[in-house]
Amino acid sequence: WTEGTQDDAENSLTELAALAETAGSQVLEGLIQRRNRPDPATYVGRGKVEDLGALVLSTGADTVICDGELSPSQLRNLEQRTKVKVVDRTALILDIFAQHAKSKEGKAQVELAQLEYLLPRLRGWGETLSRQTGGSGRGGGAGGGVGLRGPGETKLETDRRRIRHRISRLRREIKGMKTVRQTKRARRSRNAVPAVAIAGYTNAGKSSLLNRLTGAGVLVENALFATLDPTTRKATTSDGRLYTLSDTVGFVRHLPHQIVEAFRSTLEEVADSDLVVHVVDGTHPDPEEQVRAVREVLAEVGADRLPELLVVNKTDTADEETLLRLKRLWPDAVFVSAHSGRGVDGLREAIEGRLPRPAVEVHAVLP
Ligand code: GDP
Repeated sequence: WTEGTQDDAENSLTELAALAETAGSQVLEGLIQRRNRPDPATYVGRGKVEDLGALVLSTGADTVICDGELSPSQLRNLEQRTKVKVVDRTALILDIFAQHAKSKEGKAQVELAQLEYLLPRLRGWGETLSRQTGGSGRGGGAGGGVGLRGPGETKLETDRRRIRHRISRLRREIKGMKTVRQTKRARRSRNAVPAVAIAGYTNAGKSSLLNRLTGAGVLVENALFATLDPTTRKATTSDGRLYTLSDTVGFVRHLPHQIVEAFRSTLEEVADSDLVVHVVDGTHPDPEEQVRAVREVLAEVGADRLPELLVVNKTDTADEETLLRLKRLWPDAVFVSAHSGRGVDGLREAIEGRLPRPAVEVHAVLP
């Protein structure tokens, strides 16, 4: 389902397919429906549900992935109608974050986000299962729970309680880790080493640029979300001043709020920087939209007041016409190719020129 233009919908669906592949799925078919709003009961309209069911049968798909966040009842209804597992964009993204989180804090944050997503949906899943086994195929009625009375309900309650406990425990743990992070930050500001954050849409080439700029061996993956935990590297200016460069969490369209919440502390580090190097993929069909999406998230964590250096990457493969258009649109942007290295020296200079100058000590020379 989409409310945007056909192009928006197709870009978003292409990205969803890339996300699904990143998560290890094989994508078979796409289906777009244009409506003013999602159907409250089944997300896509009634007619489309039939189409979807037919598509599932003809392709032999075992999962339907929807490009949005579905309510617990929409998820349940769609599963009932299509007879296969239904996953929404949020669950898919959470799954990928879970696969890629490496640091202790990252892992705890993803687990917290997953449990918060799961809690209100627990009943839905139980119900779908019990109905499938009962084979009643009864539709509607969000209240339900008929098939869950007795031992089932008790189990559900225990599960919920266990999840709530785990959630509060994770929150406490994350809070503790935050304190450590804040202490580190305070140390940094005492040292007064300028910090540069590399932000940008996922797959824009942030890790590749970080490698180019610092010669560090950061993992570069042609997959969404290669970067989850921030990597920080030291760099020096041509006149010998030290600064740090950090690669930040990848951004995607409609980042689930659970994830924005979960990674708030990581993103807050961006807000603590002295400069944001915002990398844009010059080969993307809609770079402006990517820029908008990233700026939206930056604003959410208060990083929109920082100086921003816009960098258009992948000029080696981007087409000339697009590059000209982007040059007119963003006259101050730096155009580079992390692959060929073209423009990287200029970028380094542009970064240096925007770093805060150390306070100059003035000595009076007395005769
Ligand atoms: P990140 O998610 O923003 O950190 O992006 P990566 O640095 O991991 O790069 C994502 C993909 O884009 C990888 O396949 C890179 O090889 C590719 N890439 C990065 N920079 C360039 C570039 O300048 N030109 C081209 N053609 N591809 C690039």
